Amino acid sequence: MKFTMPSCGGCRTCELACSFHHTGEFMPAVSSLTIVEKTESPGYDVLLRETEEGKNLACNGCEGREVPLCVLYCRERDDLSQILQEFGAQTGRKEGAPASRKRGGMP
Ligand code: SF4
Ligand code: SF4
Repeated sequence: MKFTMPSCGGCRTCELACSFHHTGEFMPAVSSLTIVEKTESPGYDVLLRETEEGKNLACNGCEGREVPLCVLYCRERDDLSQILQEFGAQTGRKEGAPASRKRGGMP
């Protein structure tokens, strides 16, 4: 499921964070979300996977974490959090708590 995120700067920290959430290692190739370049408008698209696709694992909403790890390390965390909430609403998947916590060490 693809979402447009005009504020995304394309740093791909979220991909690293997601892979760490799933595997304990930084392997963006397995991330549940992929940042997709676009040319027609500012920002990037965020591709979120509801099911496993090749090496890429399904998003489980970071269930059990107070804040989804991808959101925790995103500089535009409110916008990414909103996308995850929309994804959760469309898929019926539980989404992590709102992104209101300050940036901190890896939880
Ligand atoms: S961490 Fe945030 S700003 Fe960086 S690529 Fe991911 S969504 Fe975009
Ligand atoms: S909420 Fe989904 S995309 Fe974000 S880190 Fe967790 S599993 Fe990955």
